Amino acid sequence: MTSYDRPLESVLETIGQTPLVCVHDAPGVVPVYAKLESFNPGASVKDRIGRYMLERMLERGDLSPGGTVIEPTAGNTGIGLAIAAGQLELNAIFVVPERFSVEKQQLMAALGAEIVNTPTDDGMGGAIDRAHQLADELDDAVVPQQFSNPLNTEAHYETTAPEIYEALDGEVGAVVAGCGTAGTLMGIARYALERDAETYVAAVEPEGSLYGEFLGEGREEGAYKIEGIGTHDTATNELFEPDLVDEIYAVSDRAAHEELRRLASEEGHLVASSAAAASVAAKRVAEEIAAGAIDAPHDSVVTVFPDSSERYLSKGIYRSFEKWES
Ligand code: PMP
Repeated sequence: MTSYDRPLESVLETIGQTPLVCVHDAPGVVPVYAKLESFNPGASVKDRIGRYMLERMLERGDLSPGGTVIEPTAGNTGIGLAIAAGQLELNAIFVVPERFSVEKQQLMAALGAEIVNTPTDDGMGGAIDRAHQLADELDDAVVPQQFSNPLNTEAHYETTAPEIYEALDGEVGAVVAGCGTAGTLMGIARYALERDAETYVAAVEPEGSLYGEFLGEGREEGAYKIEGIGTHDTATNELFEPDLVDEIYAVSDRAAHEELRRLASEEGHLVASSAAAASVAAKRVAEEIAAGAIDAPHDSVVTVFPDSSERYLSKGIYRSFEKWES
């Protein structure tokens, strides 16, 4: 467990034990609490799976000491994996489509990872194919595959969820979180439902994403600016378990943008668009619990703020809505 009252051996020990902070713009009778994941050393929730997946894979022998990790990723997962790989003396290669954020690629490289760019037109599919091709060419290389690796969900079941339950003495009424791979929500939801099967679970996606189809809801596919959550092809979201989820809530880019500005100006949270979408959804669930429209075992809602707005300043996250780039 992370403790700041003694010197630590490695930056890996600073992963997790993030603060849980009240969101004030919520009904007084049903507080909303947000887990601030930008407190991790790589400034996102993905540091948790970077460390957890690589340590377990080494223990199981799926990865040998000195081996190579190859992941198709454009973002926070690369940074989380790069931190862990560096400290566990593994090599890391990330396959990134060209159009993706230069800041994130620079951070991965600074952490000692090799970046292989694939043509923008080949999309994420092209990056995935190239990652597997590289793994076949190298001795002792693995692709952790965050979208299908159960260790992703397990990382949150073993770390994020117990931290939340400890902070709230087990009194969690609802869990609300954005879904990219869905590892974060699935890990917390599984833990929550084992403690109380009545816990309300809401997934959050951007308008234009297709997660709602998992619950048989109609969705119109479209582009969105909210980053890190949502899907255009539910076949890739292998970790998502519809049975654990009561609703899938779609948040508009405009609502998320207003909320991320409000969270900064009123509450001092420098968080990005996926956190803002989660906040919008969590406040709505809290209001419905307060109004008696949702039955929850406790009067509280927990959500996750996955990363910080600083990583998106170059995309104009704090400019006007029209000037915010996806
Ligand atoms: N927000 C951001 C900024 C992310 O990078 C991610 C991961 N893609 C998420 C939310 C969603 O997390 P998960 O993959 O665990 O669903």
